[in-house]
Amino acid sequence: MKASEVLNDLKRRFPNEPEYLQAVEEVITTIEEEYNKHPEFERYNLIERLCLPDRIFSFRISWVDDKGKVQNNMGYRIQHNNAIGPYKGGIRFHSSVNQSILKFLAFEQTFKNSLTTLPMGGGKGGSDFNPKGKSDMEVMRFCQAYVAELWRHIGAETDVPAGDIGVGGREVGYMYGYYKKMARENTGTFTGKGLEFGGSLVRPEATGYGNVYFLLNMLATRGIDIKGKKVAISGSGNVATYTAKKLLSLGAKVVTMSDSNGTIYVPDGITEEQLDYIFKLKNIYRGRIKEFAEEYDCEYFDGERPWKVKCDIAMPSATQNELDGDDAKMLLENGVIAVSEGANMPSTPEAVRQFLEAKILYAPGKAANAGGVSVSGLEMAQNSQKFSWSAEEVDAKLQSIMKNIHEQCVKYGTEADGTVNYVKGANVAGFMKVAKAMMAQGII
Ligand code: NDP
Repeated sequence: MKASEVLNDLKRRFPNEPEYLQAVEEVITTIEEEYNKHPEFERYNLIERLCLPDRIFSFRISWVDDKGKVQNNMGYRIQHNNAIGPYKGGIRFHSSVNQSILKFLAFEQTFKNSLTTLPMGGGKGGSDFNPKGKSDMEVMRFCQAYVAELWRHIGAETDVPAGDIGVGGREVGYMYGYYKKMARENTGTFTGKGLEFGGSLVRPEATGYGNVYFLLNMLATRGIDIKGKKVAISGSGNVATYTAKKLLSLGAKVVTMSDSNGTIYVPDGITEEQLDYIFKLKNIYRGRIKEFAEEYDCEYFDGERPWKVKCDIAMPSATQNELDGDDAKMLLENGVIAVSEGANMPSTPEAVRQFLEAKILYAPGKAANAGGVSVSGLEMAQNSQKFSWSAEEVDAKLQSIMKNIHEQCVKYGTEADGTVNYVKGANVAGFMKVAKAMMAQGII
């Protein structure tokens, strides 16, 4: 089938999976030209095989809350494609989680992992469990119940999960502990582990730092210095806080951060001490970003996203479709020069269209946020060697991987007028590697 026919067919077969179809459409429309240069791909119906996940596990998770009440959630693991290495991708715990969202994330992950230069296939998992307001013991019991079902499908050489929204070091620790007990092995079948039991230095920082490294590579193509630039960040979780930390160390001003309830606005930029407060607020007290506004008496936009404020750079780092066409219009009117995505698919197709048309520096998540999974890949490498690298070594490797991803985007995404379409570049580069591996391995 032709690439466009595959898309129409998927729309017919999965009409209730809008996020999955959105992600597939973006990739298919940007790789179609390259795909059509290879008639052998069509003969092997490669694109359809690449869009459909290898397999999906879905299961009920029953657990007991602190009041002794039995709670039931749905759990999933999508093993999307393992042509270039074991399935690899995070676990998301959020009330919005469903099969469409995880299928989009696993699909995206396949291309992202391909770009990292490391041997990792794509996967994603999660549950509609909402960790907000749960006690530590409830989170632990839930993680154990999730892994009681999942453990038989994963392994260091088959499928290696990690964190994502709602899953940080605490949750990975509980899941890995239970996995180890069930599987009776200790090879590191999770990344984002604690440093005491196989985790890698710089893994918590990697997605945020990596996004800033990618941004620096983009800015360098236009000779722009990051120092003094005003940056609007959304989110206040793992990706957002470490993005902010690296930006502050480079002399940029972080003017916003947010959560699902609202946005804080600090026109002169938040300080390191204030960022430290946000980190504690989110990870220790598990509070809301509004408390920051109360503590430091700054502006708070209740129920609003950050994109209306004046900034030079936007780094959406919360969730999918959090920046729409109106937001993009406002950012462009306010003179934004770069948008680098920490979250997965945070910009809607209309927002992406506007960024590309305006020819600003726009990096899609699958390139810009690949630093997280890259250091996860380095964690797997260290676990296999039973050896660990220093923070400097890991950070140097991360910087070199992000530079390499940037180069791949430039190679495949440079337009006739010399500007770089990073969406096309990332999609074509990510696709070609997986496609060649699939062709070499036959119909399986
Ligand atoms: P966290 O759970 O640590 O933080 C998520 C942040 O986003 C929180 O501030 C949260 O606010 C906010 N958020 C979540 N859902 C929504 C929503 N529906 N609307 C508005 N705000 C929301 O997750 P991460 O920082 O790990 O992940 C953030 C993004 O980065 C996700 O898209 C993830 O897929 C992506 N990513 C993460 C990687 C990683 O290594 N962790 C790697 C690559 C990509 P609240 O507390 O109110 O929910």
